[in-house]
Amino acid sequence: RAKLEGKNRFHLFDPEHDQSLRGQLASIEEIRGALARREFVLHFQPKVNMRSGTVLGFEALIRWQHPERGLLAPALFIPQIEAHPLSIAVGDWVLDAALTQLAGWRAAGLHTTVSVNIGSAQLQDPDFFNRLQKLLATHPQVDAAQLQLEILETGALEDIRHVCELIARCRTLGVSFALDDFGTGYSSLTYLKRLDADTIKIDQSFVRDMLDDAEHVAIIDSILGLARTFGRQPLAEGVETAEHARRLLDIGCDCGQGYGIARPMAAAYVGDWLAQWQRSRPDFIQG
Ligand code: C2E
Ligand code: MG
Ligand code: MG
Ligand code: MG
Repeated sequence: RAKLEGKNRFHLFDPEHDQSLRGQLASIEEIRGALARREFVLHFQPKVNMRSGTVLGFEALIRWQHPERGLLAPALFIPQIEAHPLSIAVGDWVLDAALTQLAGWRAAGLHTTVSVNIGSAQLQDPDFFNRLQKLLATHPQVDAAQLQLEILETGALEDIRHVCELIARCRTLGVSFALDDFGTGYSSLTYLKRLDADTIKIDQSFVRDMLDDAEHVAIIDSILGLARTFGRQPLAEGVETAEHARRLLDIGCDCGQGYGIARPMAAAYVGDWLAQWQRSRPDFIQG
């Protein structure tokens, strides 16, 4: 299907709508080959303040530009390597590519931030901090404060002591943190207090259904309360429509990310998107 649409189209293979997902999953060897042949690419999705229109930064999302199958979504290859050493090498590639992009943008006059998803094997890797430090040193044009690391709430809980320590060490470099898919784990007060993240990303499942499910609004509300209590910036994922954005603004969630704002895009399109965002913004934005 993806092949017919040509490799330059950004049509993602969507595993949720494919019965034969199992047959589509890439093997470890294929993924290793893709890394060696440099077939991975990063796409970037804007995160914005939905009240003022300010662009907060971009989330880097990996895709595989497969020579035959087209552009593949991470669900087809990230879960397989989650517990495999290969995920460390892929994770290093992602970090390096994100920093390279930040340097390129900075040279072009765009000063922004990028957040990078960190898998649980990376989090548990005792050498992660040292390699991150070295990687930052190879990109002296990039300020470490331009980099945010997204860790899954569920991933952080696997070894919370180690993760807290890692966060503290990475913070000394200037790197910031977001807790991803928040609300899908234990979301406990004590864990949230210990995990020193700047941002809490409210999982898209709550946002998606909030328009017709009052319980989901209540969940989002309580996450906003938690964020306020602990001084964290809440950001809603999966803002698919203007209606979602308006409802979120109503309950005091100003920051968001989702198809209703912008889809993830190749880096080459980011400049055009920013220019267009300055010219005409969705009408829920008041700024
Ligand atoms: P995530 O970090 O929670 O990223 C958000 C996912 O939701 C992305 O899917 C994004 O394209 C999608 N999305 C954004 N806005 C909307 C919306 O309005 N509606 C809907 N339905 N979806 C939206 P994607 O790119 O397929 O990534 C899926 C997951 O794969 C990510 O979830 C993240 O956990 C993982 N992932 C992506 N890139 C990387 C990476 O470089 N490293 C690691 N370890 N994991 C990654
Ligand atoms: Mg993420
Ligand atoms: Mg998420
Ligand atoms: Mg997710």
